[in-house]
Amino acid sequence: MEVLEKGQVWSWSKKVRCTGKGNGGCGCGSLLQVSDKDVYVTAHCCHDGSVDYYYTIWCPVCNVETDIKESDIPSKVQHMAFEEYRKNNDVSRSYYIRKDLKNRGIIK
Ligand SMILES: [Zn+2]
Repeated sequence: MEVLEKGQVWSWSKKVRCTGKGNGGCGCGSLLQVSDKDVYVTAHCCHDGSVDYYYTIWCPVCNVETDIKESDIPSKVQHMAFEEYRKNNDVSRSYYIRKDLKNRGIIK
């Protein structure tokens, strides 16, 4: 394909400190420049049937994951992370995750 006129490619990035927050808290303290492609969703099912989602990054220095606050991430990045999550996980295996993703309008 030939690009006749190039549009603006949307991207987002943010400096995140590796703290291991939400994942044991044993981060190395590295300062990471995180882009939209680095953020992924991790999910934990609670016993009461609810699902908690976290937006997570992985530190290449110490291999520890750090959760980023939802309010620190644009909704577009949240949606992209969820799309990846949906693609990479067999959501049909978990009734609760499926139900929750339906509620959020991510799957039908
Ligand atoms: Zn680290």
